[in-house]
Amino acid sequence: MMENILNQLPKKAKDKHKENKKFFVKLKNKPPRHLDTLMEEIHEAEFEKTDCLTCGNCCKTTPAWVTDKDVARLAKHFRIKEQKFIETYLEIDDDNEFIIKTVPCIFLGHDNECSIYDVRPKSCREFPHTNRKKFYKISETTLQNVAICPAAFNIVEEMKKRLPVQYTGGGWKPPEKFRRGGG
Ligand code: SF4
Ligand code: SF4
Repeated sequence: MMENILNQLPKKAKDKHKENKKFFVKLKNKPPRHLDTLMEEIHEAEFEKTDCLTCGNCCKTTPAWVTDKDVARLAKHFRIKEQKFIETYLEIDDDNEFIIKTVPCIFLGHDNECSIYDVRPKSCREFPHTNRKKFYKISETTLQNVAICPAAFNIVEEMKKRLPVQYTGGGWKPPEKFRRGGG
């Protein structure tokens, strides 16, 4: 079942791309006051339903970003020098940041378990970042993540449902009291 979902996800994300992009522009221009709590709520509800162990698609398709702090923690975990860890497992991406050099990730097991779970990079711990405060700030990343992560896709769909209609583009009507004529 998850395999089907993942197969269809890139196409579904592509079909929603324009709508999502518009939505995030509006969200950024006028973020609702309760956005952070709403995101927490939608994120929690989605991950009650979605079990990452049946998916693993982020680890299979997208190199994880690794900070200097991650390097220090992981080198210690493997009992090797930081430089050795960097040479063995990392490369530098276009933004001049460290990423894990193998895709799928070398630390991903056959059962989708992460072999370094307790010490995994911060970016892995936080992916898909859908409980992040001021969520509109990472809209560019989220627009890409909905094609990778079925949970992120569902979360964005839920956001569009839950936020006032003026954020979804199309179908917006002025609130009753501003309408002229009184009909
Ligand atoms: S380190 Fe673990 S959580 Fe991060 S990409 Fe690799 S397998 Fe996935
Ligand atoms: S975070 Fe998303 S892409 Fe990664 S395993 Fe969980 S559901 Fe799949």
